[in-house]
Amino acid sequence: HVKGKGKGDYRFYSDTMSIDTANRLSLERDLRLALDRDELRVHYQPQVCANTNRIVGLEALVRWQHPERGLLYPPDFLPLAEETKLIDDLSERVLAKACHQVGQWIHDGHDDLRLAVNLSPIQVEHPRFVHTLMEQLRTYQFPPHNLEIEITENVIMNDLEQISQKLRELADYGVRIAIDDFGTGYSSLNYLHRLPIHTLKVDQSFIRGIRNSEDGACIVNAIVAMAHGLKLEIVAEGVETDAQLCYLRQLGCHQVQGFFYGPAQPAEFIRRSLGRDRLAQNVTAV
Ligand code: C2E
Ligand code: MG
Ligand code: MG
Ligand code: MG
Repeated sequence: HVKGKGKGDYRFYSDTMSIDTANRLSLERDLRLALDRDELRVHYQPQVCANTNRIVGLEALVRWQHPERGLLYPPDFLPLAEETKLIDDLSERVLAKACHQVGQWIHDGHDDLRLAVNLSPIQVEHPRFVHTLMEQLRTYQFPPHNLEIEITENVIMNDLEQISQKLRELADYGVRIAIDDFGTGYSSLNYLHRLPIHTLKVDQSFIRGIRNSEDGACIVNAIVAMAHGLKLEIVAEGVETDAQLCYLRQLGCHQVQGFFYGPAQPAEFIRRSLGRDRLAQNVTAV
């Protein structure tokens, strides 16, 4: 059963399919099957230290290897997973795969490698969210301090009281907390020093503003200055060019993530870049 939401609620990914109603029903059925058939994939995008080029962390991004439609990206199926109850199963599957994979790399000597996972608002709002997450980490024997959860500002504003308690429990357990797409939500800044937040991920729309003018960069400047003041780590998302990287580096942005260092890729590709020194390579150079 699908809730009556219009087609306009979907954000489409470049030139991939568009989902009409019939299509949606078949997609929902397929998504159920996908979980059984193990068609979900986790790709990893490096989070790179702006000063040293060293890979600090890996963000897990879910993909769906659909038998007919090919590789699907989150905007094609996450809204559907959230409307149906499939998001919980999907999230569990993603976390299991990512913890297994990155846990192996940590065990193989990359002790400080961080795994970043995105959480859906629906997961976080669940009363047993903290308990479930801790139990999963124990099951996968994944060290909590190697995990960073990414939540958006809107999740926080939904119920500040409850979220505050949940995040505190997780932080006490060692889990790091990042605000994803920072600057694009409907939130006050007040929560920043009241919640146990470790990282701000500056949304890619602001990084795009960094071109040649100081003007376009002023929001990034302000966010980074504020993060410095609050002693928060900053990750710039969507870094695509050398100019952006240089700008962010001189601004004192700690980490960068984006096509400049490569898109999210399957584990076997990432494994190759995890040499002993874990140096990320610029893949956009011509
Ligand atoms: P996000 O967490 O903000 O992830 C960043 C998105 O930007 C990813 O899209 C990534 O592939 C893309 N990206 C990375 N670098 C660049 C760049 O240099 N330029 C541009 N233009 N884009 C870049 P993706 O993988 O399609 O994911 C979209 C969103 O779906 C994510 O946004 C996240 O909110 C959500 N998502 C992804 N995986 C999961 C998951 O396992 N669980 C949940 N709940 N949400 C997920
Ligand atoms: Mg994210
Ligand atoms: Mg983001
Ligand atoms: Mg996003």
